[in-house]
Amino acid sequence: MARAQQKRKTSSASRVEVRRSRAGLGLFAVARFEKGAFVVEYSGRRIPTPRARTLATRYLFELNDRITLDGSARDNLGRYANHACRPNAASTIRRGRVEIRALRAIQPGDEITYDYGEEYFAAFLSGGRCRCDRCARKKTPC
Ligand SMILES: [Zn+2]
Repeated sequence: MARAQQKRKTSSASRVEVRRSRAGLGLFAVARFEKGAFVVEYSGRRIPTPRARTLATRYLFELNDRITLDGSARDNLGRYANHACRPNAASTIRRGRVEIRALRAIQPGDEITYDYGEEYFAAFLSGGRCRCDRCARKKTPC
């Protein structure tokens, strides 16, 4: 089924959906994803990293010291994938694009999550602010 669809945007849009999750809005699988499969792209305007570091937005994805993606646009489905300390997906940078890929098989209905990294965690999620499944179950959060 997915093979027939060549364009990523088209296949992403029909294979994932945005709806309520524990942490506000989240990204959920509509189709099954095999381990390693492309799930969604984190897209955005390319801005200089030094300038990005002065911006007060959570929707930044630093590619390197020079370029950061400003993913705050709502058509960036990747921005809805929440952080989890034990995620089912991971971000990889390939040819200047950020791909979110399945770390293991993801079933329809599963929330798609990835690890935002230590810097983001320290700034926004430390001290009990992480609302991922794992932290929600533990008395003492990550
Ligand atoms: Zn957590």
